[in-house]
Amino acid sequence: MTKGAAWYSKIGTEKSKGTKTFALTGKIANSGLVEVPMGTTLREIVFDIGGGIKGGKKFKGVQTGGPSGGIITEESLDEPITYESLQALGSMMGSGGMIIMDEDDCVVDIAKFYMAFCVDESCGKCAPCRIGTSQMHDLLEKITRGNGTEDDLLKLEKIGKAMTKASLCMLGGSAANPTLSTIRHFREEYLEHIRDHKCKAGKCKDLVVYSIDPAKCIGCGLCARKCPVPCIAGEKKTPHVIDKSKCVKCGECYKACKFGAVVKN
Ligand code: SF4
Ligand code: SF4
Ligand code: SF4
Repeated sequence: MTKGAAWYSKIGTEKSKGTKTFALTGKIANSGLVEVPMGTTLREIVFDIGGGIKGGKKFKGVQTGGPSGGIITEESLDEPITYESLQALGSMMGSGGMIIMDEDDCVVDIAKFYMAFCVDESCGKCAPCRIGTSQMHDLLEKITRGNGTEDDLLKLEKIGKAMTKASLCMLGGSAANPTLSTIRHFREEYLEHIRDHKCKAGKCKDLVVYSIDPAKCIGCGLCARKCPVPCIAGEKKTPHVIDKSKCVKCGECYKACKFGAVVKN
């Protein structure tokens, strides 16, 4: 303020001037608020300032712009961040949120989470947003439950594009961003849920199967004591076994085992 607009305009890029504050969060080593000159790359923000991914995990993507922002992947990390570049990448500056995702995040689950938020936030005044957000949420739910089809993927794209064009305000106009950008960048991951009924990240509860590796199990019995059903059996000091027909997939055994013997597939 004291140095004036001309001085401030020297910071940043030709069209996006000055600085921008981002709320850096998610799977990042150093989370918090960062203020950077416009035009700073995502790589500098995530890896230099943010210290990279927590626990040495692999970077998967970054969601910018809050619940209606798109997901930006590895190949765009060197893109200078401006209002225009984020839009060109299918995302937006929005509130300045920057959520980092690693290899343990499931993009379908994330898209569903943000769509649920938009279903709640939609005021209902226009049909593309009121009906479209619910329809997209139902389709994403169907896919995370392992009942999705490839046709559902096409429907998601079709409804998402229609909402983007026809909604009255930017809530509906941007609500499809997380879904459309994840389908564009991670189509294979959607297809794994649809064709193979698998969620590699282990986030979609209905698609996860828990079992015990007999080579690693020492028969301590801790998992059986934690199991709420109970559906884990075995004698002391002998490998235990999960009755998959009774398992409610709560994940308590996985968290409890200190020997890495419970396997999540
Ligand atoms: S796009 Fe805007 S006006 Fe239309 S239902 Fe959604 S929030 Fe309401
Ligand atoms: S907690 Fe692990 S080591 Fe102990 S019985 Fe269960 S699977 Fe085996
Ligand atoms: S996931 Fe839950 S219900 Fe299933 S075996 Fe493990 S503790 Fe039991």
